[in-house]
Amino acid sequence: MISFQKASKLGIASEDVNLKENSDKQKKFLVRNDCSQETIDDIRRHYGNVVFSEPLDADEFDRSIQKIYKNKSIIDDEEMISLGDTISLEEATQSLLSKTSIENNSDDAPIIQMLNSIIAQSLAKGASDIHFEPNEESFDIKMRLDGNIINVLSLRSEIASRLISRIKILGQINISERRLPQDGRVTFKLGKQIIDVRISTLPTGSGERVVMRILGKQNQLIKLDKLQMPEIIYKNFKSQVRKPHGLVLVTGPTGSGKTTTLYSAIDSISNLGLNIMTIEDPIEISFPGISQTQVNLKLGLNFAEGLKAILRQDPDVIMVGEIRDPETASVALRASITGHLVLSTLHTNTTYGAISRLRDLGVDPYMISSSLNSVIAQRLLRKYCLNCRDESINLGGNSSDQLFKLKGCEQCDYSGLQGRIAIFDYLNINSELKNKISDGDLLSKEDNIHEKSNLSTEANSLVKNNVIPKFEAVRMTMNDNE
Ligand SMILES: [Zn+2]
Repeated sequence: MISFQKASKLGIASEDVNLKENSDKQKKFLVRNDCSQETIDDIRRHYGNVVFSEPLDADEFDRSIQKIYKNKSIIDDEEMISLGDTISLEEATQSLLSKTSIENNSDDAPIIQMLNSIIAQSLAKGASDIHFEPNEESFDIKMRLDGNIINVLSLRSEIASRLISRIKILGQINISERRLPQDGRVTFKLGKQIIDVRISTLPTGSGERVVMRILGKQNQLIKLDKLQMPEIIYKNFKSQVRKPHGLVLVTGPTGSGKTTTLYSAIDSISNLGLNIMTIEDPIEISFPGISQTQVNLKLGLNFAEGLKAILRQDPDVIMVGEIRDPETASVALRASITGHLVLSTLHTNTTYGAISRLRDLGVDPYMISSSLNSVIAQRLLRKYCLNCRDESINLGGNSSDQLFKLKGCEQCDYSGLQGRIAIFDYLNINSELKNKISDGDLLSKEDNIHEKSNLSTEANSLVKNNVIPKFEAVRMTMNDNE
């Protein structure tokens, strides 16, 4: 049986939800117009005697599958939490803080309403994470939006444990365990949207902190040609990810969009008939036809173990979420010189910094020179809100290098910023650089393919063109002295 979640993700659904794989009867499937050929082939292989509908547009498809699954109450079986009828955050706060609700600890309804309103509001705004932070004096709820932390509200601290217990119930996390970090998952339904959320708890002196990470919000699938890479970088990167072997790295600090770039790369080669496999933490976007494995430290499945298991599965292309330990580095590099293309990220600021980072992880310079094909360095910079940009610039947004208050308006939650833009640097490891690396030399920014325009000149030109405020460019370069 195809679950409701899977049907809406893949764009394919059976008209009979109780479908058996091995019956001879002809089975009819509804297909959305963006359903991939791989998915259709998979279904055909799996179910044999099948017919497909005309491609339906998204609305029509959603209406049909909701009808199919509702009748069988499959949606409820999957324990999705509906956020359909939430009240406003203000109403929920008032109801929670009303006298009866505070005194009556056994009534969970106001807590549930409150949490649903917080989540619904964060989703509506496009937040990537929601933080629940108990402190001595207050219980603070914040969200991350375009990389910024924004305060949502502060509640009285005695509310914390009840709200956090509710979150733990949703995530199927042990409520009585408060001394150890735990994690869980929950799926919400908001209108037609299905939203996966990862929950993690961390004990602190003033109670348990909880972060809900809204999966898919950090890294939405962007087509490779829509990443807005400079032409020379785009062309080079595109050809590098089509090579049959070697290592391609994307570097940058946390939140610089590295995974988005890797996903775009994988998407660009996903229909070339290759066996593409990934080991990730977490899996943020599911690709039909690609085998993705989630790191699970509880079960001892780390990047290195996952990678070794993948290598026994005859892969062509392997994506390793991150290389951060010597063992993963060593297995990944060996894989890339034995006939596999390996794509991964490294936590370092510059392109040339990747070489020293790999050496710090114990990799032999000769191994680096024979495996490494190219390195991208990237950053995500916050853009002015277009609605209040002119006023922010008049206030000095383009000249002040200190973090200062931009104008702000309702549209941008009074931050003056909205959305982000990526900038890139690129190191193409040609034979000259390979020699340098195997001789044990380190590289420098002069070796970048884009040497005339590195990350900071790129950022400065965005300031000049009124795309980003000056402090964004300065903030970015502060960590770049490797
Ligand atoms: Zn604004």
